[in-house]
Amino acid sequence: MSDAPRDPDCLFCRILAGEIPAEVVHETEHVLAFRDIAPQAPTHVLVIPRGHHENAAALAAAEPLVAAELLTAAAEIARLEGLAGYRLAFNTGAEAGQTVFHAHLHVLGGRDLTWPPG
Ligand code: AMP
Repeated sequence: MSDAPRDPDCLFCRILAGEIPAEVVHETEHVLAFRDIAPQAPTHVLVIPRGHHENAAALAAAEPLVAAELLTAAAEIARLEGLAGYRLAFNTGAEAGQTVFHAHLHVLGGRDLTWPPG
């Protein structure tokens, strides 16, 4: 979306702009999905909106249809990766482990996943 908000200092905005390389696995007009650089499971993909919002709640408030599309994209990634089961996570806030403040959905699968997570 050409009118999506952007932050020139944001790592994920820079990936969206093609300034930083990423292994893209899926994309639509509104979202981009690429492999995490430090995978925590055989499949570890990040799904991000093209607009800059600092976390999932901010995205849902500003662009609810795009927030929903992250989930649709995650299901498509699970299908493409042949995952029998998978986990979706939005780390929100530094206390929860968020390190990149551009909303992103983690898609994890390809191994047994324990619950609860750490
Ligand atoms: P979070 O800790 O929930 O904010 O997730 C940020 C994720 O971005 C981490 O899992 C990082 O490994 C991942 N990450 C950081 N830099 C890159 C990059 N250049 N390409 C792909 N993933 C990245």
